[in-house]
Amino acid sequence: MQEFHTEKAQLIMTLRGQGIGDATVLSALESVPRELFVPPALRQHAYENASLPIALDQTISQPYVVARMTEALRLTGRERVLEIGCGSGYQAAVLTYLCRRVYSMERLKPLLVDAENRLRDLRISNISLRHGDGVKGWPEAAPFDRIILTCGSAKIPDILLQQLKIDGIMVAPEGADSAQQLVVITRRESGFEREVLMPVTFVPLIEGC
Ligand code: SAH
Repeated sequence: MQEFHTEKAQLIMTLRGQGIGDATVLSALESVPRELFVPPALRQHAYENASLPIALDQTISQPYVVARMTEALRLTGRERVLEIGCGSGYQAAVLTYLCRRVYSMERLKPLLVDAENRLRDLRISNISLRHGDGVKGWPEAAPFDRIILTCGSAKIPDILLQQLKIDGIMVAPEGADSAQQLVVITRRESGFEREVLMPVTFVPLIEGC
């Protein structure tokens, strides 16, 4: 792990240069060894500011996108956060440093098993993982203070919006494959407020598992 010290410091500087100003987010990214979340053959690329392929045709998101999405969640340390699309478990691991508990769902069982092992090896314990269809959310643990989707869909599932608390924040890629936007949705008593952050490219949210 020590061997990536320089690469990691450089990545954090790049992210700061790209406008990531929240020191707690940068420090969470600094705390998570990304090299353990990518396939062994790609370890040398772990601290490039790029998304990388993981098993079963899925991807681990670009560090800049992880940082922007995490920042947009405006975490204070007290929140319960639902993630749809656990994948490698990297985004979830970053979140565990910034909130009370993470609930992360994944439809592909082998990915979930790998993520579970990594998180255990890292002794991260404020996380619950579930193999299941994220389109249905996690009703037993709802409502959530924050929800993050790391897979894109033309329309954000209504069930997930309903599992968000009032004044809760959801961050999600929305739109057709070719034209996704990262949206930040805040639930108010009066309805949902939307803000568009930036164009993104995520693997699709697929219903069922
Ligand atoms: N957050 C991940 C990125 C994962 S890529 C990381 O940090 O590595 C998106 C993931 O969403 C994929 O693993 C894909 O299998 C998963 N996914 C797609 N549709 C889903 C669904 N309906 N329920 C749960 N997970 C889903």
